[in-house]
This record gives sequence, C-alpha cells and structure tokens, in this order.
Amino acid sequence: MMEFERESDPLDIATTMETRERDACVKAAMNQPAMQATGRCREPGCQAKLPKGQLFCGEECRDYFEKVQRMKRIQGK
Ligand SMILES: [Zn+2]
Repeated sequence: MMEFERESDPLDIATTMETRERDACVKAAMNQPAMQATGRCREPGCQAKLPKGQLFCGEECRDYFEKVQRMKRIQGK
C-alpha cells in the first residue's frame, strides 16, 4: 500500500524523531519550576552580585549554566 510505503521512508522517520525530541525538550523546560533570582549569578562558579530579578551576570554564565543543565539531563537518563 502506498500509505505504508510513505511511513517507512527513513527520512520521514528521522524528521518525526527530531520533532519528538524537540517537543520533549520544550515539555521538560516547561515542567521545570521557575528559577528564583537570588541576587547572585546562578552559575555556581561565578556567583557575582546582581541587581534584583536577574539570574545571570551575562550571556556567558547563562550559556554555561544551560550547557551544564543539558549535560545533567543526558547523564541522568
Ligand atoms: Zn556570572
């Protein structure tokens, strides 16, 4: 049947899996409790003093923090 043939196309399957992975990431991010601003940079190795409501002192700390979070998620599987 033609419909079955289309479903088993490896390229289509790869695309579907990528979409699912992205959806899972979005869901995981939404399930996380909102991060509290503590007045210090949330990057543990930095902890620079910050104005109220700010989570990170700059893009570098935010990027690093997000990278660590991603790695923890992958390792904690
Ligand atoms: Zn920082």
